[in-house]
Amino acid sequence: MTQSYDELKPSPRVLLGPGPSDASPRVLKAMTTPMLGYLDGEFIRIMDGTVGLLRQVFGTANRLTLPVSGTGTAGMEAALCNVVEPGDAVVVGINGYFGGRIADIVQRCGGVVTAVEAPWGSAIRVEDVAAAVKSANPKLVAIIHAETSTGVLQPLDDISQVVRESGALFLTDCVTSLGGQPVDLDRRGIDIAYSGTQKCLGGPPGLAPISFSDRAVEAIHNRADKVQSFYLDMNLLEAYWSGETRTYHHTVSMSLVYALHESLRVVLEEGLDARYARHERNAKALVAGASAIGLKPIVGEGFRAPMLTTIDIPDGIDDVEIRNRLIDDFGIEIGGGLGIFKGKAWRIGLMGESSTQRNVLLVLSALEKLLADAGHKLEAGVGVRAASEVFSQA
Ligand SMILES: *Cc1c(COP(=O)(O)O)cnc(C)c1O
Repeated sequence: MTQSYDELKPSPRVLLGPGPSDASPRVLKAMTTPMLGYLDGEFIRIMDGTVGLLRQVFGTANRLTLPVSGTGTAGMEAALCNVVEPGDAVVVGINGYFGGRIADIVQRCGGVVTAVEAPWGSAIRVEDVAAAVKSANPKLVAIIHAETSTGVLQPLDDISQVVRESGALFLTDCVTSLGGQPVDLDRRGIDIAYSGTQKCLGGPPGLAPISFSDRAVEAIHNRADKVQSFYLDMNLLEAYWSGETRTYHHTVSMSLVYALHESLRVVLEEGLDARYARHERNAKALVAGASAIGLKPIVGEGFRAPMLTTIDIPDGIDDVEIRNRLIDDFGIEIGGGLGIFKGKAWRIGLMGESSTQRNVLLVLSALEKLLADAGHKLEAGVGVRAASEVFSQA
């Protein structure tokens, strides 16, 4: 009856999938900091510091900025359930899996979705958003910044302008982009944005940074009824995270707040621009190397998210077999395809700490070896050579 279980000793991995990415050693160390009470003055100072750091990384002065307990999806749910009331019209860009998830949550909130679709692997077109906004007169327009199911980076500036002119609120999902690409909420006029800690921020999963403009806060205050979710009610979260009197709402995970605090310090020490440039350079080298091996990028140039590259799996190559061998022989995790790309594409993430020259060369070498073993024709070393050329130019 009594079974014993061993101490956890998972094998070392290089995380190059769609998230989680490798956490910075400094972040892991911060997580061993002792617990504090959730209303301890010292913990409140750490919370305030975390919010200050978040504002810098989001590029915003928004008062209502904080990390919600839960992963990126908790951020998505918080963003939507606080703002969307029954009967509200919401325009949602859907060009992949996560746009579909937004539409699902909007409907659960009683909102009426007008979908603006684009094929998987393409960006949403501004003309299509403009047409939808004109016909639906929405309260909110929701767009995914980096669609992790396809690897598309959505241009936001033109869409933001269209949404602004209509008077609607503009929401962007920055789960994968924050820390890897400029999100610049205030410059772009984004009213609501949320993220997750385990992608380009280099932390463990578990918190969802979120930010609301004053206009968005006003929409929350003007609700006819209470927010249906107690746990994600931003009014209650705000009363705990800011102001003179801090009111208990739920016990936040101190360890995760310590982790986020440290990961944001790491991000800002590197410098936002340097960090974005690093993501761009490594992705460029990966695409060059993969193309040389005969693995074609799915997304067209100019629309590729530097933190996640999708590539076509060549004919005759077994998706699962190669990914299993990457794990077993090399300790490397990459992602399989999601939705319509299942079995057809690989998703290679270069996010946060995982986005390094070393990892680019490592995954290309491993793929060259495994594809050659599987009978795919390629000249030995071409992928690594092509990637190295990009690095030597940089
Ligand atoms: C990962 C991701 C999510 C969901 O985040 P979880 O942390 O898995 O809950 C939402 N949107 C996008 C674009 C993502 O990449």
